Amino acid sequence: MVTVRLKPVEEIVKSLKPYRKVFVIGCQLGSGRCKNGGLREAFKVAGYLELHGFKISGVKSPGGTCILERLDSSDRSLIKEAESSSDAILSLACGAGTQLIAENVSIPVVTGVNTLFIGVERERKYFDEYCIACGECVISETGGICPVARCPKSLVNGPCGGAIAGKCEVDPSIPCIWYRIENRLRELCSLETLKKRVPLKDYRASVYPRRLVLED
Ligand code: SF4
Ligand code: SF4
Repeated sequence: MVTVRLKPVEEIVKSLKPYRKVFVIGCQLGSGRCKNGGLREAFKVAGYLELHGFKISGVKSPGGTCILERLDSSDRSLIKEAESSSDAILSLACGAGTQLIAENVSIPVVTGVNTLFIGVERERKYFDEYCIACGECVISETGGICPVARCPKSLVNGPCGGAIAGKCEVDPSIPCIWYRIENRLRELCSLETLKKRVPLKDYRASVYPRRLVLED
């Protein structure tokens, strides 16, 4: 899931300063799951904005914002409603969803979140980064654990040697992911895999912007 963090309200207010009527759009996919940009947060932010003198012309969510083109006309029509009733739209969707809204309206679109990373949800209260979408997945060779995203040095052929008591030398609050990989491969009786050299990553596979084309 793409994770986001709500920007400080002062920053949102500053970005919206040139406008008076604001329509707030939340996203129920990543932003909503993170509790940082769903409909609930959209109403909360709208309340703050009203206290700062803005007129709120609406607070809605089309459900998934980055799949706008797939939504039925009633969900999509809220974008047009926002455009016709407001000076600006405040979007709490991730960077992708917010850009898609901006492509579909002729008024300014301001983001209320910082888009963070692709992560997994833990205990319903925090998210860990698990993937940086490198475009060349190596986890079949590393016990299903990603050393690209989960090792701060993105080392794909074993640890740097700096770990202390199994903790990462860059960030001692996290385990050295290579310990996890070794343990996992041991559990799977696949330690031999560690002798295979993973080809150095070809970062041309992650040159932006990328495109995925669906086959018929
Ligand atoms: S190897 Fe690349 S694609 Fe696979 S999980 Fe890690 S970052 Fe994501
Ligand atoms: S200690 Fe482990 S996780 Fe940390 S940078 Fe070195 S190899 Fe990567």
